[in-house]
Amino acid sequence: MYLILHKKPYRFNLSNKVENSKTTYLTKSGWIIKLTSNDKKIGFGEVSPLHKEDLKKCAKQLDMIPEYVEIFNLSEQIKNFHPCIQSAINSALAEIDGKIIFKENYYFDEIDKTAILLNPENVISDLNKIKKRQSNIGKSVTIKWKVALKNNNEEEASLEEILSQIGNNIKLRIDANGSWRRNIANRWADILKDNKNIDWLEQPLCVDDIDGLTELNKKIPIALDESLLKFPTLIDEWKGWQIRRPSQENNPVKLLRELENKKALISISTSFETGIGKRWLYHLSSLQLQGPTPKVPGLAMNKFPNSFLFLNEAKKIWDLL
Ligand SMILES: [Mg+2]
Repeated sequence: MYLILHKKPYRFNLSNKVENSKTTYLTKSGWIIKLTSNDKKIGFGEVSPLHKEDLKKCAKQLDMIPEYVEIFNLSEQIKNFHPCIQSAINSALAEIDGKIIFKENYYFDEIDKTAILLNPENVISDLNKIKKRQSNIGKSVTIKWKVALKNNNEEEASLEEILSQIGNNIKLRIDANGSWRRNIANRWADILKDNKNIDWLEQPLCVDDIDGLTELNKKIPIALDESLLKFPTLIDEWKGWQIRRPSQENNPVKLLRELENKKALISISTSFETGIGKRWLYHLSSLQLQGPTPKVPGLAMNKFPNSFLFLNEAKKIWDLL
């Protein structure tokens, strides 16, 4: 089968900044791609690198792919390319092959359908706002707090205050983005290990400290995020929660199959994709919710500007870009 590859770059400003212990996101750049097969089937994909320093590499590799390409040659050529390029091509091929069939609507717009990111500068006042909104809708919500941005004493004091303020209908995820040392991670694990509100501690230790993460996981649920990106074989080995990012994995069809086969302890997370990549996030998130360990996804819904880039129709986004 022959394919025609077209690509278009995009760039947008997040509606407000997203800060973690390693980086601050203000803008997002990437490409959307369109593959057309010789029998006129179309698949869209998105190259959405999380780290700005990967953009140049992705640009260079995308330019190496010919516009007209035989499917076998394409699959061979991208094998050593950046995971985000592989993800985009494999997503588009899966769409052409009918391995994934998107629905028209997925309903992740309401506040209680995804995790809400706390503003790390105003954690407590943000929490109070969420509680106020929550009392209006009367449903459970999940909040996510990015830590290791301030000194630990200050953050532990905020933790005590948060714990004293949340009732049973607020779930908490705490993400250190790999920045804690073992002694700090153990302190937090000891404070939180019997708490019913905690979903998990996310990547508390650095990506390489798998022994430390394994030990912690015996005490409290630990979700791996950055470790899975650096060591993808952990996807089949880690006995705990996994934060999964379809746009960062070589082939999101693997993740699709895992969810279709009801694999547990998977949580879906955004890498700030446009509406093209978001189709995968929504589809996988809705499968996750039908699985054995349903948890709302982390889609950072309140961070996206109002733009055609986030429409639900891939073709419209392509035509307008
Ligand atoms: Mg994370």
